Amino acid sequence: MKPINLQNAEFVTSAATPEGILSDGVPAVVFAGRSNAGKSSVINKLLNRNKLAFVSKKPGKTIHINYFLIDKRVYLADLPGYGFARVSDAEKRRWATLIDTFLNSAKNIRIAVVIVDIRHEPTEDDLLMGEFFAAKDIPYIVLCNKCDKLRPREIAPAVEKMREYFAEFAPMDCIAFSALNGTGKDELIPYLFTENKEA
Ligand code: GDP
Repeated sequence: MKPINLQNAEFVTSAATPEGILSDGVPAVVFAGRSNAGKSSVINKLLNRNKLAFVSKKPGKTIHINYFLIDKRVYLADLPGYGFARVSDAEKRRWATLIDTFLNSAKNIRIAVVIVDIRHEPTEDDLLMGEFFAAKDIPYIVLCNKCDKLRPREIAPAVEKMREYFAEFAPMDCIAFSALNGTGKDELIPYLFTENKEA
């Protein structure tokens, strides 16, 4: 099978309710992350597009799952960001229901990526995402974004510390990444789009 063409990415749909969640058998890679960790920037960097994953940053307007079809063979599912300071309990419940339905209905999740800010300890919600994926036997990796903000010698210890936080749920890999300068992109791509894992 020929290598995946990441340039060939198209927006497919947005699921705002459980009914909108796709379960058509196409394999999916999943992106999750606290709002402002850089999820949109990471997706745009990965796909070499400036605005593809642009979504309104207004709390309450972002609770939907965006699906992009990559090279007509894999979905990139962009889960709604979490951790907004001022969201209502109703919005939190809507988020939880959507994520729960997604994780329960999607049979073809190849891998999930939890995007965190390398400069900070993971939040409870970050760790909860790791726990969710582990509980569903979905392999996941932690992408330590914004590594351009650290000195080079600080990066490896920060990645290791992050790995230790998540290690209690399931063995997984942790990668230093920068959506600004592309560090880590070549390391990330094989996790997501390795041919022999494709259905
Ligand atoms: P999202 O809410 O998780 O989708 O985050 P965004 O992609 O909107 O990014 C939040 C902010 O962090 C924006 O100001 C981005 O420019 C910035 N940002 C994202 N990734 C990086 C990165 O790797 N390095 C740096 N320095 N800034 C980043």
